[in-house]
Amino acid sequence: MKAKLAEREEARRLYSEGMSYNAIHEKMGVAKSSISNWCRDLRVVKKKKTDAAKTLTKTLLLPGAIEAEFPFVNCRYYLYRSADNCQRIQLVNLVTKKRDVMALARYLMSVKLGRFLTKDEIVKHRSGYDDNIDNLYVTTRAQIKQDRIKFLTRECPTCKKTFVAQRPGTKTCSPKCRAQMILQTPYVRECVICEETFETKSNRQDVCNSDSCRSIIANERYRERRRGYYG
Ligand SMILES: [Zn+2]
Ligand SMILES: [Zn+2]
Repeated sequence: MKAKLAEREEARRLYSEGMSYNAIHEKMGVAKSSISNWCRDLRVVKKKKTDAAKTLTKTLLLPGAIEAEFPFVNCRYYLYRSADNCQRIQLVNLVTKKRDVMALARYLMSVKLGRFLTKDEIVKHRSGYDDNIDNLYVTTRAQIKQDRIKFLTRECPTCKKTFVAQRPGTKTCSPKCRAQMILQTPYVRECVICEETFETKSNRQDVCNSDSCRSIIANERYRERRRGYYG
């Protein structure tokens, strides 16, 4: 009797972990009818879970089927909102009973063009996620790639060669050219004495190159040094 009880507990544990009756039967060598008897109450819990999942998908579907427009003949669609807040439709073909899911933007563009879009064609938003037809346009993966290369092709300011940058922020073709560009680009600073702007290649120079400003700062530094020595 004790052995039977242990078997029962083991079977219940395996079943609650997701094992099927068949798999438990093969593993433990217990009759399937016994397993079914032992795990009956667990099955109810499992079923309840799937029911909950179904209601969740139902609430995501916005109510009412809408007759699909050309070229989606014999189709109806259900609008719903996916987790990423994109408006999608579930198309149901009334003849073949086939279901298909697509973005609302893609559906609207197909209706506007009066034909199905090819696999390569992509519908994009001009701005934001507004599915208004005026906010949509068609492009292709190849076109997007080409546009990106065009956007990243630029002239290196140091060696004047044109190159394709790896990232939008890259200005020069190589680290060597970058180092040279930094050297060649002077800092524009404001003089601490006359407050006029001047260019310098040193990041420590804070006084312009005029004789008057230089002599003033030289005197000040001399006095500072003296104060340092004599308190
Ligand atoms: Zn270069
Ligand atoms: Zn100055």
